[in-house]
Amino acid sequence: MTQKLQPTWDLDVIFPGQSDSEALRQFVNELSEEIETVTESVNNLEANGFGEDWEHVLKQIELITKKLREMGAFISCLSAQDVTDKQADIYVAKRAQIAAAHSALTKIVDQKLGAVTEANWDLLLEREAIKPLQFILTERRERAREQLSKNEEILIGDLAIDGYHAWNQMYETIVGNMKIDIEEDGKVQQYSVGQAANKLSTPDREQREYVYRRISDAWKANEDLFGQTLNHLAGFRLQTYKHYGWDKVLKEPLAKNRMKEETLNTMWGAIEKHKSLFADYLHQKASLLNLDKLSIFDVNAPIQSKMEKKSYDEGAAFIVEQFRGFSPQMADFAQMAFEKRWIEAEDRAGKRPGGFCTSFPLSEQTRIFMTYSGTPSNIATLAHELGHGYHQYVMNDMNGLNQGYAMNVAETASTFAEMIVADASVKMAATDEEKLTLLEDKVSRSVAFFMNIHARFLFEKQFYEERKQGMVSTERLNELMVEAQKEAYCGSLSEYDPHFWASKLHFHITGVPFYNFPYTFGYLFSQGIYTYAKDYKGDFEAKYTALLRDTGRMTVEELAEKHLQVDLSKPEFWENAIEICKQDVQEFLELAKKVEK
Ligand SMILES: [Zn+2]
Repeated sequence: MTQKLQPTWDLDVIFPGQSDSEALRQFVNELSEEIETVTESVNNLEANGFGEDWEHVLKQIELITKKLREMGAFISCLSAQDVTDKQADIYVAKRAQIAAAHSALTKIVDQKLGAVTEANWDLLLEREAIKPLQFILTERRERAREQLSKNEEILIGDLAIDGYHAWNQMYETIVGNMKIDIEEDGKVQQYSVGQAANKLSTPDREQREYVYRRISDAWKANEDLFGQTLNHLAGFRLQTYKHYGWDKVLKEPLAKNRMKEETLNTMWGAIEKHKSLFADYLHQKASLLNLDKLSIFDVNAPIQSKMEKKSYDEGAAFIVEQFRGFSPQMADFAQMAFEKRWIEAEDRAGKRPGGFCTSFPLSEQTRIFMTYSGTPSNIATLAHELGHGYHQYVMNDMNGLNQGYAMNVAETASTFAEMIVADASVKMAATDEEKLTLLEDKVSRSVAFFMNIHARFLFEKQFYEERKQGMVSTERLNELMVEAQKEAYCGSLSEYDPHFWASKLHFHITGVPFYNFPYTFGYLFSQGIYTYAKDYKGDFEAKYTALLRDTGRMTVEELAEKHLQVDLSKPEFWENAIEICKQDVQEFLELAKKVEK
């Protein structure tokens, strides 16, 4: 990269004219109409009709799926780059409307797939054009076959709007209205929950504890309301499970993530076995902060504030160079993304916070959104999002229906890319203090996945069991939360957060049950691949690409077996993955002792 990079993205090559784009307006209108037309032809499809009919319909559905993503991605970019763009808001609403029509179409297709007889099903899958879709179609057909009658499904869907998802909305409304008074420099200011939570990362312990107490009081004041939202949405979920004849609450989340319960239990088992070292890290961190023990609000406190910064060009060059050590193709991809302005990284007002990567499957392009100010964490984020982009890049030529991967493998490529860069940053740190901060950042991620997320999982599992017997009181919810945290953090903290079940949105998301373990799975799966890559003697790049390409058309057990020759239901893979996280802790502990002297 010789010329200076521009840190703003180019959206015009996709649809010219930003949110006033005529091409976009036309595209959106056409897509609406196409969904209607295809819905009609699917409705007319004889379940056991000719294979050609299915072939034709599936082709159309693939195209619609890609167009929907193309449109959705563009709208996400518009609304992220300028929060004041009113036209973008209109498109966001339009997108939701089109997505609803698309999901109705998907339901009809699945019902039709479920109705195909066994004999015709085999014939259908033998067709050349349909063969590559075997996994996804079989999965959808099996799911459809578990459903209740058409009328019952419609009834559940209709009742869910106000009886289920409404609790999720209610939760968000209450949280949105919460105001937290915080005194700063003698003046009391009102903050939203999110703004107040940002203040927890202050290095000043007294202030941190004060802010934490203010936030805690606010959750406590509303705990009875949240007790209602959580109990009722869980009640609805359990009631539908009962009608489906599912007795395990994990059935749905495991199916969504295409994994076996055995795999999940083995993963947690391996984590539990190796947790004590992470508890040592928490003790060491306490000592660095001059505390006997960390409280829950100290776990993410910074141990240092000053870090060397890199310009955008330097950050880009660093990422590309580090990627190259693992995969030239990945490095070339990153270089292309920088040069073709696929990245919006400018540090300016009016942008949405946070980062994301979104892909345009028709244009076969990707866009990354973030705000770059030169910190090591910015560089890690940039690498992370480029990893997502690369995942899509290797899938570009595949059938659109095979590009949908589940949450637990969605972070494979991103975490992998982030790890390469984070490791290199640690190795190249200028001073011991800087190295310690970078290591701490890495280890704190493991702690989040092994302890914080584990607590969420333990809580949720226990809560759903008790909810089967009836409403769970707020006192009991608080108690369950603290018990889960004590277990997950190996009792190493001085104080836990009884209202975490109320403050964590994820417990209240109706669309995704158990929004926790897939994070830990994804993190360790990626670590496992990273370990594998470091030891692999052959062409790792080809192996890695092949694995990524299969993420949308296999169970995770099949994926690991085929590409890494490992059995995910056995502890070995997981223990190897945890081992490299442990090495970081060991290095951190040694360095911390040295720095403390
Ligand atoms: Zn990600």
